[in-house]
Amino acid sequence: MVTINENYLKLKAGYLFPEIARRVSTFAAAHPDADLIKLGIGDVTEPLPEACRTAMIKAVDDMGDRATFHGYGPEQGYAWLREKIAQQDFQARGCDITADEIFISDGSKCDCGNILDIFGHDNTIAVTDPVYPVYVDTNVMAGHTGDASEDGKYEGLVYLPISAENNFTAEIPKQKVDLIYLCFPNNPTGATATRAHLESWVAYAQEHGSLILFDAAYEAFITDPTMPHSIYEVPGARDCAIEFRSFSKNAGFTGTRCAFTVMPKTLKVKASDGSAVDLHRLWNRRQATKFNGVSYIIQRGAEAVYSEAGQSQIQALIRFYLENARIIREQLSAAGITTYGGVNAPYVWVKTPHGLSSWDFFDKLLHTCNVVGTPGSGFGAAGEGYLRISAFNSRENVEQAMTRITANFQG
Ligand SMILES: *Cc1c(COP(=O)(O)O)cnc(C)c1O
Repeated sequence: MVTINENYLKLKAGYLFPEIARRVSTFAAAHPDADLIKLGIGDVTEPLPEACRTAMIKAVDDMGDRATFHGYGPEQGYAWLREKIAQQDFQARGCDITADEIFISDGSKCDCGNILDIFGHDNTIAVTDPVYPVYVDTNVMAGHTGDASEDGKYEGLVYLPISAENNFTAEIPKQKVDLIYLCFPNNPTGATATRAHLESWVAYAQEHGSLILFDAAYEAFITDPTMPHSIYEVPGARDCAIEFRSFSKNAGFTGTRCAFTVMPKTLKVKASDGSAVDLHRLWNRRQATKFNGVSYIIQRGAEAVYSEAGQSQIQALIRFYLENARIIREQLSAAGITTYGGVNAPYVWVKTPHGLSSWDFFDKLLHTCNVVGTPGSGFGAAGEGYLRISAFNSRENVEQAMTRITANFQG
């Protein structure tokens, strides 16, 4: 008899984005003329930078010539890309990271899930509440949790609440946890971490022998020069942190697919026989077995991000989205609505006016303004009373959406 991974049955059926899609399509069917503006799902809207497209086109031509054709590439990614990443994203910021510690992949969502392959099942795992749902659901699938309670919290996970009171940065836990997921700049709250905050996490991890899984998918949105872009800007992080990075949000690769994971060679974890095991070795083995690398064409496109033209083009993209975020923040504030984030991040975390629940505010926005946001409660119980608005859209749509919201809502 065929059996299944029963852990999948613990996943909450009414997952956030399908439920949003359901409500939006019901509304659209009833109001076919409504001009909906979607500021919900965190996908980019602006086209790929020219430098990346040019590099990809050239790479397609390489594939058409026997002399420059590329078949299977290294599972870890091409050295020319790994070296540029190590130099420009890390060494240039004073981080002691080398090219052979970079593993190119087809997405950091994928890596965040795949990384669980190399860990045991007895770890105590901490996530923030609210949280990027991938961290939670991949642990549920791997059997690291019990069932979900009424409010969507899984038994066995440690939830660290983040709210306006702690600037949406979790308090360092009193108890010992083994794996800690951190995401800065944060999805969904748009919060950022100071160097001191990251230092306190690294100190915690060193003291307890814990490992930090640091998701820096939005680091390119940091404009404050005092804010760290990488966990490795904190001394000691090489011994207690894995970092996930992606070309999705800085260079618009959400549909093109390229990302990377930084796995320092100094990360060691004790096996049950007491011997120290190198995580880099395990991850290399995992990737070499289950992954066959990212397309040559796409890696050439990612490489172009590091050219002078590429850098100035991605900077222009980031400025564009951050300006959208500024418009969202300022317009909502002017209407008396409280917002957080959206300064060094493309997400604005909006306190629902008049104490509305996340879903009530979502429905009101949909019905009265024809604007789609993301209910904060979908990211965790502590997200109740908030709504996420994304700056990933055209200027016109953002301005139009803000005009509609401020005409209909006053905080
Ligand atoms: C968008 C996003 C990513 C990037 O995922 P990819 O698979 O690389 O597209 C990673 N983490 C968070 C929190 C994100 O929002």
